[in-house]
Amino acid sequence: MTKLVLVGGGHSHALVLDALRKRPEPGIALTLVSPAETSPYSGMLPGHVAGLYAREAMHIDVRRLVEEAGGRFVLGAAERIDRDAREVVLGDGAHVPYDLVSLDIGITPDLSRIPGAREHAIAVKPIGDLLAKIDRLISAVREPDGPRDVVVVGGGAAGLCLAFALARRLRAEARSEQGPTLTIVTAHALLPELNGRARRIARARLAQASIALVENDRVARVEPEAVILASGRTIASRATLVAVGAAPPPLVARSGLAADARGFLAVDATLRSVGDPRVFAAGDCAGSVTDPRPKAGVFAVRQGPILAENLRRAVRGEPLVPYSPQTNWLVLMSTADGRAIAARGRHLALEGRLVWWLKDRIDRRFVQGLA
Ligand SMILES: Cc1cc2nc3c(=O)[nH]c(=O)nc-3n(C[C@H](O)[C@H](O)[C@H](O)COP(=O)(O)OP(=O)(O)OC[C@H]3O[C@@H](n4cnc5c(N)ncnc54)[C@H](O)[C@@H]3O)c2cc1C
Repeated sequence: MTKLVLVGGGHSHALVLDALRKRPEPGIALTLVSPAETSPYSGMLPGHVAGLYAREAMHIDVRRLVEEAGGRFVLGAAERIDRDAREVVLGDGAHVPYDLVSLDIGITPDLSRIPGAREHAIAVKPIGDLLAKIDRLISAVREPDGPRDVVVVGGGAAGLCLAFALARRLRAEARSEQGPTLTIVTAHALLPELNGRARRIARARLAQASIALVENDRVARVEPEAVILASGRTIASRATLVAVGAAPPPLVARSGLAADARGFLAVDATLRSVGDPRVFAAGDCAGSVTDPRPKAGVFAVRQGPILAENLRRAVRGEPLVPYSPQTNWLVLMSTADGRAIAARGRHLALEGRLVWWLKDRIDRRFVQGLA
C-alpha cells in the first residue's frame, strides 16, 4: 500500500477526497491532516459575513469526505515535513509517515510589513480564524460604545467583498442610529488585476453603499483607534481588517522544500514539487514555476481534479498529466445587496441581480456537491 497523506483541507484537497470517495484507488492508504473537521469555502465567506448564508452552508466537512474515501482523519496542523524520515511532523509532536504527501494549506498573512498590524489589526486569513474574529466584532458593534469606524486594508476582490459584507452586517447589527463607517484603503487602484470597467462599476457600488475608498495610498501604521497612511492622512479605525500581504506558510521553508521567488512551494505543471518527487502541492500555498497565476480560490478549485488524477498516477507509477491554468477567468464579487459584479479578461464586466443569482448557484452547488 502507498501511504498518501493530504495536509490541509483546502479547496483542492476537498476535490481530491471527493474524487477518491467516488472512485476509490486500490493500493492507497489515505490520511488527511487538518486542524479542523470542516473547512470554510471562501466564495461564500463574504455572504456568510453579510448574514446571507448560515455557517454550515459555507463549510465543507472534510472529515466525512476522507472517511467516505476510506481514509483516516488526523486532527492537527503540520509543523514541517521530515523528508529524510518521510514523515509529516505535527504541532503536537505526532509523526504521520508517508510515501507521497500533498499540501493544500493556503497562505498566512504577512502582517509584519505594516507596523502595528500584528497588535491592532485583524488578518483575513486563515479564514477559519477570521470567522471567530468577525463574530467578536459584531458583538462589539452591538454595544453602545462599540466600534464606529472600520477600515479594510486591501482593494483586491477579497477586500472589496468583505467591505460590502461588513457594511451590510455591521450596520444591521449596530443599535445606534448611525451605523459604522467603512473605508477601504488600497496602495494601488481598486481591483488592480481586473479590467477598467469592473473597477468603475465597483467604485460606483461602493459610493452607493456609503463605503469610502482611498486608492493609491499605503497604510504606514495601524494604531488602536486609527490607521496612518503614507500620505500622512489619518483615518479613524476601531477595527482594521487586513486583506493584503499573502505570505507562504512557514512549513515550506521549515521543510527545506524548493520555493518560487516569493517563497511558495515551487511546483511544475503537474503540481509536483520541483525539488522532491514525493511532494505535491496545490492552491494558494503552491507557486507554479511554469505558469504562475494570482492566489485565488478559482485556481485551487481547477487544480483539484488534476491533482487527484496525478496522485493516482503517481501511486500507479504512470506519467503525470499537466495542469494548464486559464488565461482568462471569471471573477464574481458579491456586493451583499442581492447583486454581484462579474469580470473576465480585459473588457468584460457586468453587474446586477442575475450575476448574484449565478454566483449563488455556482457556490451552493460547489459546497452541496461535496456534502
Ligand atoms: C474574504 C475573502 C473572500 C474571498 N473570496 C474569494 C472568491 O470569491 N473567489 C475566489 O476565487 N477566491 C476568493 N478568496 C481567495 C480564497 O480564499 C483563496 O484563494 C482560497 O481559499 C485558496 O484555497 P486553498 O485550497 O489554497 O486553501 P484554503 O482555502 O486557505 O485552505 C487551506 C486549509 O489548510 C488548513 N491548514 C493551514 N495550515 C495547515 C497546516 N499547517 N497543517 C494542516 N492544515 C493546514 C487550513 O485550516 C485550511 O482549511 C477570498 C479570500 C478572502 C480572505
